[in-house]
Amino acid sequence: MIRHSNYIFIIILTLLSSALSAQKFKSYNDGPYIKIKDGRTELSWIKNGRHKTEEGVTNDTSIFNVSGLPEVNLSELDFDRDLPTEYDNVSKFLAISDIHGQHDLFIKILVSHNVIDTTGVWTYGDGHLMIVGDIFDRGDKVTESLWFLFDLEKQAKRNGGHVHILLGNHELMVLHGDVRYINPKYQYTAGKLKVEYKELFSKETVLGQWLRSKNITEKINDIVFVHGGFSKQVLDKEKSLIKINDIFKQQITSKKKIKSNNSKLIDLLYFENGPLWYRGYANPNGFDVEVADDILDLLDAETIVVGHTSMPKIITLHDNKIILIDSSIKFGSTGEVLIMQNDTLYRGMDDGTKVVLGDDKDKGFGSPFNYVYNLGDGDLTIILNTDIKKLLKNKLKEEYQDSKLTAVHNNEFNRVWNIKLRSRGNMRKKICELPPLKLNFPKSTLRYLGFDGYDKLKLVIPCDDSKYAQEGNYKEEVVYRLYEIIDSIALRTRQVNIVLQDKKKTKYDFNGFFVEDEHDFSSRTGAKIINEGIIMGPGTQRESYLKLVFFQYMICNTDWSYYSKHNLKLIHLPGEKRTRAVPHDFDYAGIVGMDYAVPHDKMPIHDVWQPFFRGKNVTAEEVKMMAQFYNSKKERIYATINDDKYLSDKSKKQMTKFIDRFYETLDNEKQWHSKLINPKSLNSNKK
Ligand code: ZN
Repeated sequence: MIRHSNYIFIIILTLLSSALSAQKFKSYNDGPYIKIKDGRTELSWIKNGRHKTEEGVTNDTSIFNVSGLPEVNLSELDFDRDLPTEYDNVSKFLAISDIHGQHDLFIKILVSHNVIDTTGVWTYGDGHLMIVGDIFDRGDKVTESLWFLFDLEKQAKRNGGHVHILLGNHELMVLHGDVRYINPKYQYTAGKLKVEYKELFSKETVLGQWLRSKNITEKINDIVFVHGGFSKQVLDKEKSLIKINDIFKQQITSKKKIKSNNSKLIDLLYFENGPLWYRGYANPNGFDVEVADDILDLLDAETIVVGHTSMPKIITLHDNKIILIDSSIKFGSTGEVLIMQNDTLYRGMDDGTKVVLGDDKDKGFGSPFNYVYNLGDGDLTIILNTDIKKLLKNKLKEEYQDSKLTAVHNNEFNRVWNIKLRSRGNMRKKICELPPLKLNFPKSTLRYLGFDGYDKLKLVIPCDDSKYAQEGNYKEEVVYRLYEIIDSIALRTRQVNIVLQDKKKTKYDFNGFFVEDEHDFSSRTGAKIINEGIIMGPGTQRESYLKLVFFQYMICNTDWSYYSKHNLKLIHLPGEKRTRAVPHDFDYAGIVGMDYAVPHDKMPIHDVWQPFFRGKNVTAEEVKMMAQFYNSKKERIYATINDDKYLSDKSKKQMTKFIDRFYETLDNEKQWHSKLINPKSLNSNKK
């Protein structure tokens, strides 16, 4: 029996014991996990990293209320077990998918669209909330979402509304004991409770029974919802959603039953192309409007709504026939929901605003570069499957060739693209074993998936597969980010792990980076790129000129020219009278230290480690101004190098030396004249 005084006692005990052995246990909370066995409830939970249990009888009238854990009304552990598959005359709904443990974002979205109030009370009237699978895995607040929904479903019913929860592949994985994606927190809980994680959702548990009662597909009005999608292959074999739900409940939620059953239909439903896993709709190749129509005919529906494949926003295909609603809530930062109201479908944003679905085609989520740039932290891998021999043979010709691009983000499959790629770059394609690459995405595919903007990506990869070339690539990427500290009008980059494969055999596996193309840069900043005419540095916007020449001096780079627009983009910003330049390609900079980098014959230095100031007509007044400016950025410059997660310690030290020397010069006025104001004296150093 659970009584209040017990809890106070437990909490005091917990505080005392955790104070005594604080370092022994991780301080976290999880649960409750409730088992009903022989008419008795058994409760387990983790409080401050410690395992707690209580037992009582099932007609318990108390409330489980432990701070930091979901509140559970123990007198209401029962639930509707017989859920219909079809719902008619629904006036409004809000659908969301792939929450993946991001409970806080989930709640924020529900509050902002008035499904609940800030205290968790249902305020959606007779509306329907539809969860299209994948509450489990990845994030660390899965238990919170489950108990929240367990309660909300009762609240909705009392108000004439409804909460639908469809199982996704991750629910099925947990029920089957596949724990590859569970958050480490839950491994810890399972360890503490001395059971397998799946046992916490066994048939003897409240949540386990509840999940097993759920459908995998439902229909509201004319709209079918399912986590992955229905392939034609599946529907040709079985098109009754009621039957499909029955097969899942009776056979597929139990791994044992799948194994002992030799049914073709079960195989079809359970494996890769089954309704919880299918990704066909997210792949524009081979999914045209005729196939969509066939599928909708078989389902006797107007629209099919799926989750499962992460998109940057809700995507609608073929006039709202297919709607992909997994809008990457799993990353925990933003997400969207599908709303139906007054017979109109909307994309609901996480701030509570909404736009008519399909009405905002002009406002896509940008170009592939914008997409990868905005993916946020986390590992991004692209696997390029192409004829590598041909690529290397043709690298000087810059000829496009076919490639498959598989994108993986945070170990999660993102998408396969059929793209074209070619070499690019001025010197590197001649000097390097591997040239920098340009990836060309098919325009129709991009538009299909809601991308807009420029369709190509520029990729800078290490010169070869040596550790040395890899470090050089890391350093160059850091230099791009250093320049962003100096001038906000800069090209952006995004780190990426690259696997180059030839007929599925991996030939190269290293890190590189995407660098913003001038088209992307222009549409972001409004800059006009100047390709014609001659512009000399001193004639450009003075402050940006000074920032740039001091920056090049800091990183020991002389490999740039205003006159020939070499490694500089000359741009014109709206509202500005004068032009300015944006630097790129820093592989000849001393701070990057590539072995092929030598200064141009015209430079009065004999190696790239020597600083040489290329600013023209810079006055002492201006040096002073720049010294002040660069000193205000000093901390961030050092931190960008030292906090980088890719650079080796050795590289950090090497780069830091360049920065040290630069600041020594800036801080020593006596050196200004010979080094910055009239640097020609360095001519004597020339060999
Ligand atoms: Zn999924």
